Amino acid sequence: MVDLKGQYEGIKDQINSSISNVLDSSAFINGPDVHAFQKELEDYLGVKHVIPCANGTDALQICMMGLGLRPGDEVITADFTFAATVEVIALLNLTPVLVDVDPDTFNIDVKAVERAITPKTRAIVPVHLFGQCADMDALMDLANEHDLFVIEDNAQAIGATHISKNGEKQKAGTIGHVASTSFFPSKNLGCYGDGGAIFTNDDDLANIIRGIVNHGMYVRYHHDVVGVNSRLDSIQAAVLRAKLPKLDEYNQERRKAAQKYDMAFQDQRHIIRPKTANDRDGVFDTSDCHVFHQYTLRITNGKRDALVQHMNGNGVPCGVYYPIPLHKQKAYADERYNEDDFKVTNQLVEEVISLPMHTELDDEQIDFITDLVLKFVND
Ligand SMILES: *Cc1c(COP(=O)(O)O)cnc(C)c1O
Repeated sequence: MVDLKGQYEGIKDQINSSISNVLDSSAFINGPDVHAFQKELEDYLGVKHVIPCANGTDALQICMMGLGLRPGDEVITADFTFAATVEVIALLNLTPVLVDVDPDTFNIDVKAVERAITPKTRAIVPVHLFGQCADMDALMDLANEHDLFVIEDNAQAIGATHISKNGEKQKAGTIGHVASTSFFPSKNLGCYGDGGAIFTNDDDLANIIRGIVNHGMYVRYHHDVVGVNSRLDSIQAAVLRAKLPKLDEYNQERRKAAQKYDMAFQDQRHIIRPKTANDRDGVFDTSDCHVFHQYTLRITNGKRDALVQHMNGNGVPCGVYYPIPLHKQKAYADERYNEDDFKVTNQLVEEVISLPMHTELDDEQIDFITDLVLKFVND
């Protein structure tokens, strides 16, 4: 699905020397690279505060701790996402409220969010799934109206642009009250181990969060709040510093691959291609709105599972993200849920297939992959 080796080959000298500098300095925790990366990412995103941490799941949890959410508070998120999002809500004894998604973009359905709001609702967690932003204009309006926090789960969309109604461009993860991201190796900006970060423009919240990631300490050995231990290693920060300047280029490579897939799959009866949400009738340049963390097709003739097997049998890895709706997972099932409210997710889990997507895909590979898909689906 991803070619991390090929990408490494292209930046090997720089990565090796960055890592070896850390080794020479022995500043393995909170070394100069961590601080430098934080500043460089703040500049790249145009956000006031980046707080690095140990992984994307911690980042989400720390966002919720920082906002002071309390047991019993309801947090609305998408039924169609990776489990980390709902996991941390449950871990903090908050009440997860799962809602359906939009069939075109796979992102949280704002109308469903609106229906799910109760007096106990405190926050909404849109996940910018597969590399493009959820409908942040509508979500922020809804949040303002009901006095809710918006926590963007930006693990899959770092570098994506969001264009608001008035044409303003902002980077994914800088629009809500706070956002989380992951630097897991296969993400668009991946390190060589675990890593994550929190973004916010709110000075007070940033301050609170800086303490939370460090055992709740604001003054050494004074623990004012219950915190966690969640740090980005200096070695990982050094890797990320070498890769951040290439992020736009890497995302562009992904978009190029997506365009080639799109060409191959146009006008297919049994295939629905991924749609770009920010497509406002050609009014704005939306070319950088999607960073294709995944290129995900819907196979509508019931052959999805057979196609996955066929692809794997021909040496092409394919993913099903995600095969089970969260509301049907044992850990998160809840008798309050009604199947009629999850029509889209229930259908998507039967239809979606994600094709190989990374920065090193060449034309020959793409032709091989698309030929396999087309022959099989139309057979
Ligand atoms: C990868 C991912 C996470 C978790 O990130 P980790 O760094 O693996 O903890 C959270 N949410 C989404 C949507 C993800 O894709």
